[in-house]
Amino acid sequence: MTAIPSPTIRNFIGGKWLTPTSPAGIALTNPATGELLGQTPAGSAAEVDAAVKSAQAAFPSWRATPAADRVQYLFKLKVLLEQHIGELASLITIENGKTLAESTGELRRGIENVEVACGIPVLMQGYSLEDVAPGIDEFMVRQPLGVAAIITPFNFPLMIPLWFLPYAIATGNTVVLKPSDRVPFSVARLVELIQETGLPDGVVNLVNGGKPAVDTLLDHPLVRAISFVGSTPVAKYVYTRGSASGKRVQCQGGAKNHVVVLPDADQETTTKIIADSAFGCAGQRCLAVSVTVTIGEASRWFPASIAAAASSLKIGDGLDPATQMGPVITTASRDRVVSLIGQGADQGAKAIIDGRANTGDRAGFFVGPTVLDGLPAQSPLMQTEIFGPVLSVIHAQTVEEAMEIIDRSAYGNASSIFTASGAAARKFRNAVSTGNVGINIGVPAPMAYFPFSGWKGSFFGVMHAQGRDAIEFFTDKKVIVERWPREWSRKF
Ligand code: NAD
Repeated sequence: MTAIPSPTIRNFIGGKWLTPTSPAGIALTNPATGELLGQTPAGSAAEVDAAVKSAQAAFPSWRATPAADRVQYLFKLKVLLEQHIGELASLITIENGKTLAESTGELRRGIENVEVACGIPVLMQGYSLEDVAPGIDEFMVRQPLGVAAIITPFNFPLMIPLWFLPYAIATGNTVVLKPSDRVPFSVARLVELIQETGLPDGVVNLVNGGKPAVDTLLDHPLVRAISFVGSTPVAKYVYTRGSASGKRVQCQGGAKNHVVVLPDADQETTTKIIADSAFGCAGQRCLAVSVTVTIGEASRWFPASIAAAASSLKIGDGLDPATQMGPVITTASRDRVVSLIGQGADQGAKAIIDGRANTGDRAGFFVGPTVLDGLPAQSPLMQTEIFGPVLSVIHAQTVEEAMEIIDRSAYGNASSIFTASGAAARKFRNAVSTGNVGINIGVPAPMAYFPFSGWKGSFFGVMHAQGRDAIEFFTDKKVIVERWPREWSRKF
């Protein structure tokens, strides 16, 4: 079994592992056992400044390195990630709580982004046209920005850094990565593997910490771009403050995702897929379904069917291969989820499976899967991101009514429809107000070569994570208009 390699959390600046000088930040615990794992440093302006300056110093020669040479480090990283996938998955499970299968799944999605970024010599190309006027040619090239900061959340400790980092460096930028202060261990191992590729010093830097580290990045004059993923209030704050200091900023925020179940949906498959979406990763996925809207007759079978699926899940330590659902991240998170289940009941729902009964008998931070049936569509809980294994079920008469409910949500990360009707599915995907849409899919997570397209309060910015959007985000376009008059040149 993999253990945390060392409780000391270090920064990686200019190719050197350094012991933080900032005061202690939060205490880290294994969410499944309550065992103390270490303490994240709070992060200081001086450490962030050193990391940014190291990235800035590495930038000129990195940007001048041919793209085909830059991606060789990513090919090596892909091999190293595959070789260490079991060890990395165990680290994620120990610090985050998700099951080993979920940790491995997250790594696969992260590796996919490394693979896509290996295509940068083609993907980064611009375009050109000869003779835009007599004897004048014009072309567009993409150039890297400089230092890019990446700030990530706790729920996907490695996948989310990999949504950005491979594209940022492949396009010629240098990076300062500030991971979630709740899950610093697996990302430290990722950076060790990046170091093992032989990447030049300073191209990737790692600084641990919380708000002080983030604020320094947001204001630092040498940071050109910020990629952020986290909760909506912090996403808004990062977007506003980072943009105000002239940076290019992309911020992915929180979510409240709906699935619509039509009466003609296949009952068994639909239930299984929705249960996986709602309770997988203990509901701590930004694409987890939080509300199921049953249409017409679907309200007859769905609540009992999803309750049966929820109650059959084996809850426990994610390191045990038999575990199907792990804990939530902290005691505070567990208490919050428990309190929100109570609020759902107060607002008119019936807890047909009540996870509050499942919290107290272990040292870890467990909440059982919960189904709140009959939550009124106007209730405050409908607007609250719970971020735990809680599924609300509400009922509507038509797909239009369901889409109005989705439209009223402040979030727009994802929605799905379950049906055998192509016409209903088409209407839904055409008109629904979310940026990621699933048709008979529970977690409509875009592959690495498509953008991760949250809308409304789930995203602030223009270019999303992954794929072509990432290349646009991490580069500036330069357009050159060129004339070489024959009379100015020696004749050959
Ligand atoms: P969070 O907002 O608490 O933290 C995200 C990052 O911001 C961390 O690195 C943290 O250290 C930093 N941070 C926290 N508070 C800050 C503050 N006041 N000022 C400056 N920086 C601050 O998010 P979390 O709890 O780690 O992650 C869960 C959230 O992320 C959920 O809301 C989830 O929906 C969202 N999320 C969204 C997506 C997406 O693609 N839209 C993906 C994953 C997670």
